[in-house]
Formats: sequence, C-alpha cells, structure tokens
Amino acid sequence: MNIELQCCALFIIFTITVMFIREKKLDLMNRKLFQRAISACFACLIFDILSVVLINLSVNSGFNPFITGIVCKLYIMLLVLQGYFGYVYASTSLLPRNKTWAKAARIIFHLIFATGEIMMLVLPIDYTASGRIVYSFGPSTSVAYTLSAIFILSTIVTTLAYRKNMPGRRFIAMLLWQGIWLLAAAIQFVVPSLLLVGFASAFGMVILYIQLENPSEFIDGSTGLFTTNALSAYVHDKYKFGRKFSLFTAKIHYLTNYVDYNMEQAAVMRTSRALVNLGPEPAFRIDDDTFCVVYEDTDRMMERAANIKMQKDGVTDLPAKGTYLLIPDSTIMSGPDEFFRFLHTYLETDQEITIADEMLVHKLREQNRIKELIDEALRQDRVEVFYQPFYNVKKQCFDVAEALVRIRREDGSLIPPGEFIPVAEETGMIIPLGVSIFEKICQFLSKGEVQKLGLRQIEVNISAAQFDFDNPYKFVLEYIDRYNIAPGFINLEITETAAAKNREIMLKNMSNLIEKGVSFSLDDFGTGRSNIDYFINMPVSVIKFDYTFTRSYFENDKTKYVLTGMVDILHKMNMSVVAEGIETEEQFNVMTEMGVEYIQGYYFSRPIPEDEYIEFLKKNNRTDKSQREE
Ligand code: C2E
Ligand code: CA
Ligand code: CA
Repeated sequence: MNIELQCCALFIIFTITVMFIREKKLDLMNRKLFQRAISACFACLIFDILSVVLINLSVNSGFNPFITGIVCKLYIMLLVLQGYFGYVYASTSLLPRNKTWAKAARIIFHLIFATGEIMMLVLPIDYTASGRIVYSFGPSTSVAYTLSAIFILSTIVTTLAYRKNMPGRRFIAMLLWQGIWLLAAAIQFVVPSLLLVGFASAFGMVILYIQLENPSEFIDGSTGLFTTNALSAYVHDKYKFGRKFSLFTAKIHYLTNYVDYNMEQAAVMRTSRALVNLGPEPAFRIDDDTFCVVYEDTDRMMERAANIKMQKDGVTDLPAKGTYLLIPDSTIMSGPDEFFRFLHTYLETDQEITIADEMLVHKLREQNRIKELIDEALRQDRVEVFYQPFYNVKKQCFDVAEALVRIRREDGSLIPPGEFIPVAEETGMIIPLGVSIFEKICQFLSKGEVQKLGLRQIEVNISAAQFDFDNPYKFVLEYIDRYNIAPGFINLEITETAAAKNREIMLKNMSNLIEKGVSFSLDDFGTGRSNIDYFINMPVSVIKFDYTFTRSYFENDKTKYVLTGMVDILHKMNMSVVAEGIETEEQFNVMTEMGVEYIQGYYFSRPIPEDEYIEFLKKNNRTDKSQREE
C-alpha cells in the first residue's frame, strides 16, 4: 500500500512532539500556535494513512463506503486545518495587532476557513484505488485543494510583505516551510501516486522546529535558566498580545575588587537555584550576574519577593550582596523598548530594592527625552557656549570668563544647562558633550580676538562623570594642541564630587596638565559638601565661593565670620577667590572689601554669546598697555 512516506512522516512528527513536550518552555503565543500546528499535522497524517487503508479496503474488499467517505472527508478537513494554522502562525506574529484592517483580515480568514470546512463536510466525495494510485476526488476534495492553496499563498504573501519585521533566519524558514508544501501539493496533483503532502508537512514542521522553536538559544548552558533572548521573546510576546506580567530581578554585587571564578560560580549557582526554588515560574539569567523571574500575577510576585530574605541568608558566606528590582505591573511601560530601557537603567542603582512605579517610568521618559535632545543638538550643531566675564578687582578689568553651555532649540530659544547637564552626567552623554563644548571654546580662543581685548583665562566646567576613565583630560591636550592655544589660557573648574569619585586618577591627570600649564579651580565651594581636605591636598589655584555661600553672608552673622576667615586662610595658602552670584552693588562692595580677587555675577553681566562678549570686552576693558602690565 502507498503509505510508506506517511508512516515515515508520522515517525518524524512523533519525535519532534516528544522533544517539544519534554523541553522547558516559555508561555509564548508562537509556541502555542506551533503546538496547534504540530497537533493538526499529527492528526492529519493519521487520517491520511487511515484513508488510504480504508479506500483500498472499500475498493478491493467491499468495506463500508460510508465510513471510508467520512474518513476521507476528515482527512481533507484536517489538511485544510493545517494550512489554516500555518497561516495563523505566520500572520499572528507578523501582522499588526490593533489595526482595523488586520482585525478584519483575521475575521475574513476565519470565515473562509469555517465555510470551507462546512462545505467539505456536506459536499460529496469520491475515491479511487488502482495499484499504488489511491486518492479521493469530487467537489469536497476540490474545496480542500482550493482552500489549501489560498492559505499557503496567503502565508507566503504575508511573509514576503513583512520580511522587514522578522530576522532573516525566520524569513527563510517560513518560506522554505510553505514552499515545500506547495511543491509537494503540485507534484501530487500531477502524479497522484506520489502522496507527498503528508511527508512535506512533517518536513516543514522539522524546519520550523529547528529554526524557530528551537529551545537551545533560549537556555543558558551553565545554569539551565532561560537566556536574555528568551526574556526578549517573552516580553515582546506579552506586550504584543496585551498581557500584563510582573518581573522580579536580582543582581549580584561582589564586595571584593577581585572576583575569582569559583566565587562567581558559587554565587551564580546559588542564586539560580534559589530562583528556581521560588516556584514554577520561568527564571532567566540575563547577564553574568543578573537574574529574573516573570510572573503572570502581581500578588504572587510580591509574595515571592518577600522570600528574598531567604536567599540573602543563603549567600551570606560569600562576599556578595544582591540588589533587587521589582516591576509589579508591566503595563506602566509603553512597550518592550521602554521596558528594557527601564531594566538597564534601574538595574544599575545603588539602592537595595527598587520598585518600578509610574514616577520612575516618568523620570526615565524625561531622561530619554533629554538624552535625545542632547544627541540631536550635537548632531545639528546647536550646542552653544556663552561666556560670563569675571571682574578682576585688583586690575579693574575683565580678564577671566567662565564658559557656560546652552542648547539652542530649533525655534531659537535657549535651554539652560540645569535642564540637561544632570541627565548628560547620568547617561554618559557628558563625554561627547564635554568634548564638543571644549572644542568650541578652543575655536573661539584660536581667533585671538579676545586675547587682544585683555582676556587672560577661560574657566571650563568639568563634571564628575568625565573622570570615569583612565585619561579623562586627554581631549584637553588634544584640542589645545590642534587649535594652538596656550595652555595657560585654560582653567578647569572641578567640584568635590568629581574629586571624590576617583581621586588617584584625577590627581595623576591634574599634575600632568599642570605641568603643561593648565590650571584648576575648585567650584561650588561652600555648598555643604566642601571638605577642607580637598583644597588642602588638591592642586587648585582658585577657589570659587558658591553663590549660596556668598549670599548667606548677608543673611547670617556666623557665615560672615566663616567667610571672612576663609578668605584670609585661602590667601595665606596662596590661592585666589572668586565670589559667584554677585548681583548688587552692596554685595560687590562687601566682597571687594573682604579682599576677594574676582567677582562673577549679574551685577556685571549675565553669561552672553561670543559676539556680545567681544562687545562687552571692547566696551569695558581698557586695552592700553599700562593697564595690562600692572
Ligand atoms: P556653575 O558652574 O556654578 O555656574 C554658575 C552658574 O551661576 C551659571 O548658571 C551662571 O549663569 C549662574 N550665575 C552667574 N552669576 C549669577 C548671578 O549673579 N545670579 C544668579 N542667580 N546666577 C548667576 P548656568 O549657566 O545656568 O549653569 C548652571 C550649571 O550648569 C553650572 O553651574 C555648571 O555646574 C553647569 N554647567 C554649565 N556649563 C557647563 C559645561 O560646559 N560643562 C559642565 N560639565 N557643566 C556646565
Ligand atoms: Ca562653574
Ligand atoms: Ca559654581
């Protein structure tokens, strides 16, 4: 009998089904659809074999033709079901979910399928068997062929139309699967003795399984947990089908500088075991030292998270601790992109437990908006440097200025640094931004105009985040060299937060630059974070009194003594003082009487753009020789 190929196919499908059932699975829509498709394929093959056997029996041995007819009909109905499931498998992952036309297409295909099945059931079917040629025919079978063709072609068209939406591997697998099917059907149509369709569909399932539903890239080799790829698939699936989920994340922090392999292995294995013990929910290893578990139910996640204590106790003999990020409700994020951005941002906090809420998501959106704003400003060259002149009390001129960055909006208005510098620092954007600012300052200085107008030095702000690598000041030397600027024209303003971060590296870099002629100021002095130790041990030549500090002189008698005493001490240490935020004549008089060397503030000028600054210098600096040589 002509059933060898089908039996072979049945064996293949059986093997895949066993493998598929046994492996660790994530609850994904694709997987469910694949399961459905493979079940349909299985049932279809059984009825395929059964129908060949019964047709032979009916034709040759007079077996009840009605039963054979029914079995033949069930076979072709299952064949169409298989084609339909194939289409659903492809279109569910490819077509947009919430577009009206996609919804309409779903309904139409559903109707076509249902009508076809009813027609196959009621229309007559006939069959023939002579030697190896065994097949059914008649109106019912014609409907089956037509519908199968519709579904296969629709799947191919959808796959081609949305090829951009899927990885290349998936695209090839889908086409191969449907192509083999189409080819087999065409061959069988021409040569009825070649019953290829059943085998082809089983072969197609093998391709799908290996290429698309293959679990190995979803399982982490050393822990057996799911991988980042698996989490990505899970998260995309849940957002796509509008299903809420909760996430519990644990990150291991080692408390020693040197983490040896055994210690890491121990911590990783213990954490993954603890997570698996938490319950049947899928656990993931999303980074060397970061793990998470997903829950369908918020309460359950919160209840499980309370078991953290247990895990913490479990790792106390290792020099490691955990930080935890809980996302009780995935729907507060707009989609997978925001979800993963959130995860990456808040996994890096110092807090022991972070719970995601709308406020944090809002903060993230704000941060992202500003990050994009900086990025765009850098690309479109809308970063501008303004200059605020300092008054040199002794020389009675404006020979120093502070460079202060602004971003120009497309409509021409300005964004003050307070709105973007903190985000630039948090996101690392300060690195390219800082370089761009410095280059602009060098370009300005390289014209030589301000030097002729009496300028002696420009002060440039440097953030703590710009110290996070080995040679933070490399760009300074690079640019003063490229633009041929005398190093003495550059003074870098640093803050204590910067100094505290990586003191060793900073001191090394500072002395390197000082050797070349660059000088340093300590900014924001008196803001409450000052520590005398810093200016005693830091090679800074100027101390900048923060405006909150100078203001408090006028509000508080005690600060008056502190300020006066401080100026005295600093002078004895051979340092000069800049008083920031001077807005009135009274403030100006008090500061000059106290012996402060430089006055910075709106009393003289706000930070102004290059051309205005040049005008300012022309107007206010006596440029005769006698003044500058004093
Ligand atoms: P900062 O370094 O303390 O700069 C002084 C700030 O005080 C400037 O604000 C300046 O416009 C303002 N100011 C000056 N005189 C007066 C006054 O009389 N009254 C008042 N109320 N304010 C006065 P700005 O330009 O908005 O800059 C804010 C902060 O942004 C700076 O504080 C600095 O920390 C940061 N920043 C500015 N430019 C840069 C830059 O190029 N790089 C880095 N890393 N940070 C920068
Ligand atoms: Ca400053
Ligand atoms: Ca300051």
